[in-house]
Amino acid sequence: MPNSAPTDSGLLSVVLPAFNEEEMAPRAADVISALLEQAQIPHELIFVDDGSRDRTWVRIQEKSRALPQVRGVRFSRNFGKEAAIFAGLAQARGACCVVLDCDLQHPPEKIVDMYRLWQQGYQVVEGVKVSRGKESPLHTLAVRCFYRAMSGSTGLDMSRASDFKLLDRRAVDVLLAMREKNAFFRALSSWIGFSTAQVEFQVREREAGRSKWSLRSLFRYALTNLAAFSTAPLQLVTFLGVLVLIASVVLSVHSLWQKFTGQALEGFTTVIILILFIGSILMICLGIIGYYIAKIYEEVKDRPRYILSDTCGEARHAEKDL
Ligand code: UDP
Ligand code: MG
Repeated sequence: MPNSAPTDSGLLSVVLPAFNEEEMAPRAADVISALLEQAQIPHELIFVDDGSRDRTWVRIQEKSRALPQVRGVRFSRNFGKEAAIFAGLAQARGACCVVLDCDLQHPPEKIVDMYRLWQQGYQVVEGVKVSRGKESPLHTLAVRCFYRAMSGSTGLDMSRASDFKLLDRRAVDVLLAMREKNAFFRALSSWIGFSTAQVEFQVREREAGRSKWSLRSLFRYALTNLAAFSTAPLQLVTFLGVLVLIASVVLSVHSLWQKFTGQALEGFTTVIILILFIGSILMICLGIIGYYIAKIYEEVKDRPRYILSDTCGEARHAEKDL
């Protein structure tokens, strides 16, 4: 079991995924620890350096020397934000964990509200966005399409969901026990249930550095998570099959009618169109099925979600969470 170590009562673990955040990571450490100290919440900060190519790791090491509550783990390469979140959760020793972006776009003050709700007995406290902050119109459109597809196929309303969440130890252990490699934290943490409260927040503007998401990486992210959480595209295959079957019945009747009334021979165009139509539908369906087979292949290989190359502060031993 990933989390067999004893957990401190009341300790809050703050998980901060960081990818090329040399400016924001130390700033986040200062802001969040000052805030939690003021609110008298016992805490630890866990930075996960997701294979940054700048000096993020050096900054995290400096912070962990300066502040005893700061720890860090470093990935051997970029494994993505989802992997970073899970690595942070695996390192956490707290009775509850909060996950937030280290660019401070998730307002840290809300951590205190979340913690108070946890003290009242809620096991999952979700941060929900009341506004998305500044984004390009194309980005907003892409995000909207993704969430529509996601809610349509999974039944979870995700349009305001974010990765800003507080999870009780029990919820963290449940998440860590899941072996799936393409885990989609945002959706999984709703899917597991538990008594849930919500805290609204406004997405802030980034103070330094820039967003790590290009439109292409967002598209890949959307596709992976859609497939990780839903088999709706596979049902689409059946649906298309039925559609083509209906069309073929209609056309068959029409062709037979033509044959018996002696108007056959014509209809070459129809044949071409039909071949192309059925051919393309078959290809699309094969593609969808192939995509899922690829995902199954990835899961079956059972590779670790991430590989740790270094730790700082008194991080747990690297092997524990592989
Ligand atoms: N991040 C990460 N790995 C990645 C991309 C991003 O750990 O491959 C982290 C990043 O450092 C930040 C958070 O995920 O703390 C959100 O990323 P970003 O601010 O780029 O996304 P946005 O806020 O634009 O959605
Ligand atoms: Mg951000």
